Amino acid sequence: MIRPIGRFLAAVGVGLCLISGTGCRNTNFISTKDEVRIGKDASAEVERRYKVETTTADARRVAAIGARILNHSDRREGVPYSFKVIDKNDVNAVSLPGGPVYVYRGLLDLLGSDDDALACVIAHEVGHIDARHSAKQMSQQIAANVGILVLLKGKTAQDIGSLTTDLLNLSYSRSDEYEADHRGISYAHKAGFKATGLLTFFAKLQEMEKGKQQGAEVLRTHPLTTARMDRVQKIIEKQDYRFGR
Ligand SMILES: [Zn+2]
Repeated sequence: MIRPIGRFLAAVGVGLCLISGTGCRNTNFISTKDEVRIGKDASAEVERRYKVETTTADARRVAAIGARILNHSDRREGVPYSFKVIDKNDVNAVSLPGGPVYVYRGLLDLLGSDDDALACVIAHEVGHIDARHSAKQMSQQIAANVGILVLLKGKTAQDIGSLTTDLLNLSYSRSDEYEADHRGISYAHKAGFKATGLLTFFAKLQEMEKGKQQGAEVLRTHPLTTARMDRVQKIIEKQDYRFGR
């Protein structure tokens, strides 16, 4: 299931669709340039809204792991990746279109010093960006909302605020999760991390769910199912790390 995303996201998408003149049927009509622009606006809003760390030891650790992952990812051309920490206790990690990745402090606390697990989570987010999953959702929304016309030039701070909220709450489909997992553990493995780190992360989430009333945010945006865990286990057993190559 794809969660309906906000009107602004759809409106922006239609605007892009009309500006680019490529028609709305092609689900890949949002160009990398458009993605980067949307991600830039949304990340500026994230950094206005939350305390974002870029120079702390945690932020340096996240950025260093991100850089190692990028050496083995599939989509680097024209995509300005960044890896930062949001100082908030949610157990969550998010990626915005066109490169920005944020890891929440609550997730760092949950994983402790386990670099393999952290690398697999970061690589999973890179997998979503590489596979253009948020762009795909924007395109799908546009298909359902043809007729709304908002040109990007006219966007207001309020529009960007709604867009950012939509993007932070984007819930991925099962197949997008499988793809991001497969890409993620492939990148992490090639970067020298243990792919089993993703299973460690899943186990910690499950443990957390059992012990607390309030669940991890990451489970809402990246649903964890038995089928998903089984798939990751099988990829690791078969050592099938060559995603898309
Ligand atoms: Zn995901």
